[in-house]
Amino acid sequence: MIVDIHNHTAPHSPDARQSLDELVASARQAGLYGIMVTEHVEPDYPDPLAPDPVLSALYDMEEAARTLARVRASLPDDGFLVLSGLEFGWMPHLGLRMADMVRSAPFDGILLSMHVLRGHDPYFDSTIFHASRRTLCREWMAHQAAMAREAPDFDILGHYDYFSRYAPWEDPRLRYDDAPDEMEAFLSALATRGAALELNTRTVLRMEALGVADPLPDRRILERFRELGGERVCIGSDSHEPGVHGKKVPDILGRMAECGFRHICHYVGREVRFLPIS
Ligand SMILES: [Zn+2]
Ligand SMILES: [Zn+2]
Repeated sequence: MIVDIHNHTAPHSPDARQSLDELVASARQAGLYGIMVTEHVEPDYPDPLAPDPVLSALYDMEEAARTLARVRASLPDDGFLVLSGLEFGWMPHLGLRMADMVRSAPFDGILLSMHVLRGHDPYFDSTIFHASRRTLCREWMAHQAAMAREAPDFDILGHYDYFSRYAPWEDPRLRYDDAPDEMEAFLSALATRGAALELNTRTVLRMEALGVADPLPDRRILERFRELGGERVCIGSDSHEPGVHGKKVPDILGRMAECGFRHICHYVGREVRFLPIS
C-alpha cells in the first residue's frame, strides 16, 4: 500500500468536511501506510465566481500543528505516518511568497498545484472551457510546464489534470496526445528537477463516474515521464471527506507497473522515501 500525500481537513481547508481524526481513521481502515495533510494555501486567489474569498486566507498553522501533534500522540505505535505538508496554489507572480511559506515550518513535503488559469478556477467557473479542447489542453499544459520549471521549492506536482475533472467534453480524460509538445516540456521539467508526479485518485474517480472507458492516467504520460528520467511518482486522494482513501489505488499501481515503475514515493522531512509496488 501507499502513503496518501494529498488530504485536506476542516477547518483549515475551507472546502474540507473531515477532521484530522476522521481522515486518519479512514486511511487506517483502508490499510494505507500513512497520510500527508496538505491544506490549501492560495495567495491572491482571484476567481470572482468563487463563493467564499476565504480560500485566499492563510490557515492557522499553529493550531494545525497542535492538532497534528495530538492526533499523532493518540495513535497506537504501529508505524502509521501522519505527515505535514501543504498544497500551494501557484500563479506565476508567487515565487517569493512560496519560498517564504515553504521555509516557515518544518514540512514533510510540499505539493505544488495550479487551480487557476487566466483568473478562473474551473471548479467554480466554466470560462476556460470556451476555448477548444486542443487550445485549452495546450495552454493548461504550457502553464504546468512553466510552473514545474519556475516554482522555487517543491517536492510533488499535484493533479496536472485538475481542469479535466470539470471539462464539458464527452471523454475529458487528459491524454499525452492532447498537447504533446507541452506534455514533453512538462514531464522533462519535472524529471530534470527530480520532482514527483502526483497521480490523483479524485480525478480517476471523477472519470469513472463520467463513464470514461479508461479512467486511469494515460499510459503514454507515465511512459514518457520514465523515458525522460522521471523516477518519482506519488498517489494522492485529494480527500476532503472520509471514505475515499485507498480507492483506485491498486488500479493505479497496476498501471504504473505496466509502464515500468517499480516504486511509489512519499516524503518525510522533505526527503524522498520509496515503497515497492508489489
Ligand atoms: Zn488542488
Ligand atoms: Zn487538494
